[in-house]
Amino acid sequence: RKRDVVDHEKLQNLVDELDIKSEFKEFCDLPLSQPTASGLEASHFKTLTDVQSKAVPLALKGKDILGAAKTGSGKTLAFLVPVLENLYRQKWTEFDGLGALIISPTRELAIQIFEVLRKIGRHHTFSAGLIIGGRSLQEEQERLGRMNILVCTPGRMLQHMDQTAAFEVDNLQMLVLDEADRIMDMGFQTAIDAIVEHLPKKRQTLLFSATQTKRVSDLARLSLKDPEYVSVHESA
Ligand code: ADP
Ligand code: MG
Repeated sequence: RKRDVVDHEKLQNLVDELDIKSEFKEFCDLPLSQPTASGLEASHFKTLTDVQSKAVPLALKGKDILGAAKTGSGKTLAFLVPVLENLYRQKWTEFDGLGALIISPTRELAIQIFEVLRKIGRHHTFSAGLIIGGRSLQEEQERLGRMNILVCTPGRMLQHMDQTAAFEVDNLQMLVLDEADRIMDMGFQTAIDAIVEHLPKKRQTLLFSATQTKRVSDLARLSLKDPEYVSVHESA
């Protein structure tokens, strides 16, 4: 299918009109911006995985998502594509500050997410940063204020919220909690509670985990608003 070049408003109309009940097989079946479409193409992502095909259309429409799908099912793109798109359609610029915060339980996972973001986001103009410790707090602080999208670990993020005076989260549009089950298992409940408390109430939240546990549903109750449930079972 050939993709027309569409401007932001046309893209928004296409997203509004998107019928989430229809079947989405490929990224080009979705109303995506040219920068995201070319980033995906250049990274050789063409066919949607199950969790992507269910979650991305809903997330593009601004819904909160509670997603459960096993490791390896493609959850990273299920949230990164909506993050890029929802900021793009709002014409987010460097002057708008932090638009999306992605929280991951470990440094390694945060780095992986950041690398995928850099690949598929390469044609976008957003600034993106990785906040996982390992460099001085001050060094991170200087970069924080200029970032549109941050990938972080819970402890380090909380440290910045407490200590970085210039760190503004008032404009935040999207919060992503990835590997929520591991976040909770690793004892980050209090940190996440404190972070979520700092964030604007009016935002979109996407929560993904490999398993559905009691702790995850507790976290979901606290952080999501009227979520759509997306769960992908192993095929029989
Ligand atoms: P999860 O977070 O669910 O464990 P990942 O997002 O890390 O899964 O993806 C697992 C693997 O599948 C990665 O190597 C990724 O590049 C690949 N992958 C994800 N989505 C697609 C896709 N739509 N097409 C092809 N490969 C994909
Ligand atoms: Mg993952």
